[in-house]
Amino acid sequence: MGFNKMNRTVLITGGAKGIGKAISEVFAQNHYNVVINYFSSEKAAQKLEKDLLERGFSALAICADVTKRGEIEKLIDTVHWAFGSIDVLVNNAGISQNKLFTDTTEEEWDSMINVHLKGMYNCSQMVVPEMVRKKQGKIINISSIWGMVGASCEVSYSTAKAGMIGFTKALAKELGPSNIQVNCVAPGVIETEMMDSFTEEEKGMMIEQTPLMRFGKAEEIANLVFYLAQPGADFITGQVISSNGGLVI
Ligand code: NAD
Repeated sequence: MGFNKMNRTVLITGGAKGIGKAISEVFAQNHYNVVINYFSSEKAAQKLEKDLLERGFSALAICADVTKRGEIEKLIDTVHWAFGSIDVLVNNAGISQNKLFTDTTEEEWDSMINVHLKGMYNCSQMVVPEMVRKKQGKIINISSIWGMVGASCEVSYSTAKAGMIGFTKALAKELGPSNIQVNCVAPGVIETEMMDSFTEEEKGMMIEQTPLMRFGKAEEIANLVFYLAQPGADFITGQVISSNGGLVI
């Protein structure tokens, strides 16, 4: 199929690996132009782009650090040149950290807040004017159950993820009259590289606390994100939808 200006376009930040990769896959399979933003995962991004193109889908991998406004500006220009517009933004890029609050350095704190909150601000602010003009658009923010209930030894992460929920609710109210839906997906524990920092024992404990007795799969989060991007979900805005196996009820 290749690049197509008639298709809808989705921009997925941190779209090369884990949950972001699964989101890229599901949108590509449903004939969106998929913009795979990456920062450090160049090999994974190029492999995913090549794989999707070889299967006849439309994909473009673009390097940009979501915390750098200038880099996001360039990314948006490139997407407009390639596809014409952006219909769906998925703010998925994220980092994690497990350490005591008292051991968290100022640099680590700033980086956590910047990737999740400034990144979401940068990307959203640059797609909203176009969505307002078209009176149509979807912004989907990937938060976490820890942003809903807090996690010990993840104070900075929980803070950033809770901030994404506040942003979602406020922006949904502001953009509702322009027919733009802003929602949050708050995953529970999902099997990705982000879980590598936990020991097998810690993972076992998390599974024991999960009523469905397993971790989630990246594809399960991707399917929920895709659903929220569809016209059938047009009456859903400002919500936090948590796919978590019952870990948080
Ligand atoms: P991951 O580490 O596989 O993916 C995160 C991606 O974000 C990576 O590709 C990384 O390179 C990218 N990224 C980081 N900083 C960036 C920056 N400055 N600019 C652009 N890209 C950047 O982890 P994942 O598990 O797939 O996580 C995806 C999202 O889901 C994150 O926001 C994470 O907080 C959230 N989440 C994950 C889980 C889980 O259990 N895995 C649970 C809840 C929420």
